[in-house]
Amino acid sequence: MSSNNTWRPATKLIHGGTTRSQFGETSEALYLTQGFLYDSAEAAEARFKGEEDGYIYSRYGNPTVSMFEERMCIMEGAEDARATASGMAAVAAAIACQAKAGDHVVAAKALFGSCRWIIEKLMPQYGVEFSLVDGKNIDAWKAAVRSNTTIFFLESPTNPTLELVDIKAVADLAHENDAVLIVDNVFATPMYQRPIELGADVVMYSTTKHIDGQGRCLGGIILGTEEWINDNLHEYFRHTGPSMSPFSAWNFLKGLETLPLRVSQQTSNAGKIADFLAEQNSVNRMIYPGHKSHPQAELAARQMSGGSTMVAFEVTGGKSGAFKFINALETIQISNNLGDAKSLITHPATTTHKNLSEDDREELGISDGMIRLSVGLEDADDLLEDIQKALTSIS
Ligand SMILES: *Cc1c(COP(=O)(O)O)cnc(C)c1O
Repeated sequence: MSSNNTWRPATKLIHGGTTRSQFGETSEALYLTQGFLYDSAEAAEARFKGEEDGYIYSRYGNPTVSMFEERMCIMEGAEDARATASGMAAVAAAIACQAKAGDHVVAAKALFGSCRWIIEKLMPQYGVEFSLVDGKNIDAWKAAVRSNTTIFFLESPTNPTLELVDIKAVADLAHENDAVLIVDNVFATPMYQRPIELGADVVMYSTTKHIDGQGRCLGGIILGTEEWINDNLHEYFRHTGPSMSPFSAWNFLKGLETLPLRVSQQTSNAGKIADFLAEQNSVNRMIYPGHKSHPQAELAARQMSGGSTMVAFEVTGGKSGAFKFINALETIQISNNLGDAKSLITHPATTTHKNLSEDDREELGISDGMIRLSVGLEDADDLLEDIQKALTSIS
């Protein structure tokens, strides 16, 4: 497999992990196959015993999926990885493969909705306890630790309010307590935040987002040490089957090639929009990790190497103001997805975060006027004109 430790990220994302067939194809091959043939019964026996390398069945592994896993490992500085059918399959597997009845999970309250469901609703069915804390406050993490705490889980920046969690501080706390820190790194992208270097044990992505970047396939990936994957995920993954389709892996390999260009252009567009929104009278609050007004600007500078492709803001007039604004947009489209080449806007309180209680939403700062914008690859001036015009419809 191709890999060169001195490559810079953009080069890793183009050449990392590529294996070629006897035809020497330029582009990564799509091995759309369920199974693999053996030369003899003895060869099949040896492969099942693990005495001979080779693929057995695409639920366990597939050459196209392996190329994607390897490229992500090289990029992320991880020893091993398993690609999954969706981001949620990655979260569910990363937690369920190691949590046992009687264990306790500490997680930040501000989580992607389905991640909260797994921790609050699903895992308790199997006897796994949990505490949800204010992720910004390291003392809250400390206070939640119990003798049976085995997993810490966080995402940073958070969805939708783009708050940050100090990954290194939580990793240190996890390790003091012999627990594992899992970081959902979707919002930061592999370009802007390196959780493993900050001390995280396991990193996961919904590759549906920036890694695809053009709104096509669902996918996810879990990255960690060889030891953690062998001891926890390997068997779980083989027998429960959350595997990524080779077709999706092929699509994500192509996505990785353009990831740095897309993320940097989307971030540049987002920065311009953040600067503009910060000055508008019809905007009460603008949240952007790369902006000087961000309450955790110091932490952003310390643990992230770039801003964000996402901007959150609260317009005047509550839900009605937000709906008027969203409906008046022409270039920016209404969708709860993110990380796409197309700019997408959503009203979290009535969509992605509608299942939270009003108290929870208030605590997380998800007000009725709050809007989340995933900034795409359109010309920034077209986006700014669209936003400017739509803001006039509020008043
Ligand atoms: C989208 C998302 C997920 C879930 O990923 P899917 O691919 O939709 O299953 C998990 N975490 C975060 C932060 C996300 O944005």
